[in-house]
Amino acid sequence: MFSLEQIRNLWKGAVELAERAKNIELKQKLLELREAGLELGEENLEKSRQIKALEQRVDDLQSQLSLKAKLQFDGCAYWIQAQVEGQPADGPYCQRCWDADQKLIRLQSTPLPNGEPWWDCLECGKSVQPPGTAPRGIAQSVAFSNQLRRH
Ligand SMILES: [Zn+2]
Repeated sequence: MFSLEQIRNLWKGAVELAERAKNIELKQKLLELREAGLELGEENLEKSRQIKALEQRVDDLQSQLSLKAKLQFDGCAYWIQAQVEGQPADGPYCQRCWDADQKLIRLQSTPLPNGEPWWDCLECGKSVQPPGTAPRGIAQSVAFSNQLRRH
C-alpha cells in the first residue's frame, strides 16, 4: 500500500516527464488524475470519520451491556452488583429512568414525617417505597445491599 507522500511523488515525477516530453494531453490527464485522487482522499477521510463514530457507538453499547449485566432489580429499584466479594451493592437507582432512558439516576432517601422510608428520583420525580418498613439510613442501605447479594 502506498502512502500519500509516495503517491504525491509518483504524480510529480509523471508531471515532470509529461512537461519534458512537452505532452500537453498527458499533462492534462495527470491533472484530471490528481483531481480524482483528491476526491478519493476526501471520500476516504469521510469513511474514516464514519468508522470512528461507529467504533465509538460499539464501545458505548459494550459499556451499556456490561453495566446491564451488573444491574440487579429488587422489584423497586436497580442496584449495581459489587464486583468485590463482601462489598455492598451500589444504589438504589431509579427503575423508570433506567428502563426508559438507560440513565442511572441515584434515588434519594426522603423518609416521610412518620419515619416511613421513601426514595425519590430527582430526575423523573418518581417516588417509591423501598422493600421493608424499617427507617433507612446508611447502615440500613448496607443491610439491604447484603440482602440483595443473597438472592
Ligand atoms: Zn427517575
